[in-house]
Formats: sequence, structure tokens, C-alpha cells
Amino acid sequence: MALRLILLGPPASGKGTQGRRIAEQRGLDYLSTGALLREVLTAGGPVAAEIAPVLARGGYIDDDRMCHIMADWLRGRQGGWVLDGFPRTLAQDDFLREALLPGGIDAAIALEVPKEELLRRIAGRVECPSCRWSGQREQLVQGGLCPRCGTPAGRRADDDVTNFLHRYEEYETHTLPVIERHAAQGTLIRCDATRDVEIVSTSLAASLEPLSSHGQAS
Ligand SMILES: [Zn+2]
Repeated sequence: MALRLILLGPPASGKGTQGRRIAEQRGLDYLSTGALLREVLTAGGPVAAEIAPVLARGGYIDDDRMCHIMADWLRGRQGGWVLDGFPRTLAQDDFLREALLPGGIDAAIALEVPKEELLRRIAGRVECPSCRWSGQREQLVQGGLCPRCGTPAGRRADDDVTNFLHRYEEYETHTLPVIERHAAQGTLIRCDATRDVEIVSTSLAASLEPLSSHGQAS
């Protein structure tokens, strides 16, 4: 049985970086809801028209619409996956539970970083407009180029502090209850994500190691 993992954490806690690494290590699909919504936008059509203004102001798509989009993504998917950005609310978590019956997720990973540290990260965060690499300003090469593809990279459009504070508030109101629920049910892996990216990655790999024992021989 393929692994099904969800990543929970506040904005700028490193979900994208760690999610991609886990997916690579374990042969899973990585899904960022941000990237998925951008694809929906690019494809055009009525759904794109409805979500465009919400995304333009850095807001979140309502639960119903988000669950429909996720249902499309999950449909017919055979292998395992790591979800980044979903479920973001209890309603979305309910949807996912129902969609996965009779199984469920194998683990929910909570990346924990205090608000002050997140604010510090937001101030220095940059993104490549070409390959979507994102990281801190000091990781850019030759005074401002993407370390992955060499395109000039800059500050992320959605990274202003006001937007972060709004998203953090949304996280506290809607996502913390999802984390608490998984903690109560024993499916939560807590991770101190203030540490170096490599250390967080190694520690997560170790936490996820036992999950291979039930079914998957890797
Ligand atoms: Zn790039």
C-alpha cells in the first residue's frame, strides 16, 4: 500500500521543501495546492474565472470548491502522495477522510515554527519566476540568480507581511484544529522545523521510516 501523507504547518514553515524531499525519497507524488490552483487558472474555464480574484488577493479558496478540485486530483490516483496545503480546515480534513475510505492517510506531519521566526523568514524569502524554486535571499547565486536554473529571482509577490499575518491567522483558526485532531488520533508526527533544512529532512525521514513496514517493502 502506497504511503499517503499530509503536511501541516504555518506559511513559510518549509512545507514545500520538505514535501518535495519526502516525495523524492519515498517515490511519492508531491502536490502543492498553490501549484495545482495555478494550473486550474492556466487551464481557464468557469472555475478559473471564479478563483482568479481570490488568488489575486492572496486569499484561500472556499472549502467546497477546494474539495472539488482535490477530488479531481485524487481520482484514479494509484500511487502514494504527499499533500502540501490540503487539508487546511476541518471540513477539508473530513472530505479527505471520506474520499480515502476504507483506508486513510498514513501520517500527518506538523512542521512547527514560532511566529517570530516565520516573520524573519518572510522578510528574506525569494522565489524563481521560472522554475518556482523558493528559498532565502542568501541562497541566490551571483548576486540574485536562481541556484537551480539561473533565472533572476526576487521577492515573492505574496510575501508581504500583511498577507503573511492574514495567512497565519487563518492557520491558527482553521489548521491548528486539524493538527489537534490528528494528534488526538495518533496520526500526527510533530517536527521542530526551526532547525536547518537538512536536519529537518533527516529527522522526518527517520520518523517516516517505520511507516514502510506496513505493506511497502522499501
Ligand atoms: Zn529557477
